[in-house]
Amino acid sequence: MASNRLACRDCHHIVEPDEDVCPHCGSNTLTEDWAGYVVITHPETSEIAEKMEVEEPGEYALKVR
Ligand SMILES: [Zn+2]
Repeated sequence: MASNRLACRDCHHIVEPDEDVCPHCGSNTLTEDWAGYVVITHPETSEIAEKMEVEEPGEYALKVR
């Protein structure tokens, strides 16, 4: 059975289930309780990235609880 991937509550990055801390911001507030997978490739031209205050390309969770 595959583990669910985790999302960081602080920066919304999606990380692998074996991570203890977010490799992007160093936060340990990782959660399985997230929804809305988005891939942001060009944050500077993306409305979603602007709303989420995302500045680097990557995989993100739209909603993190
Ligand atoms: Zn993070």
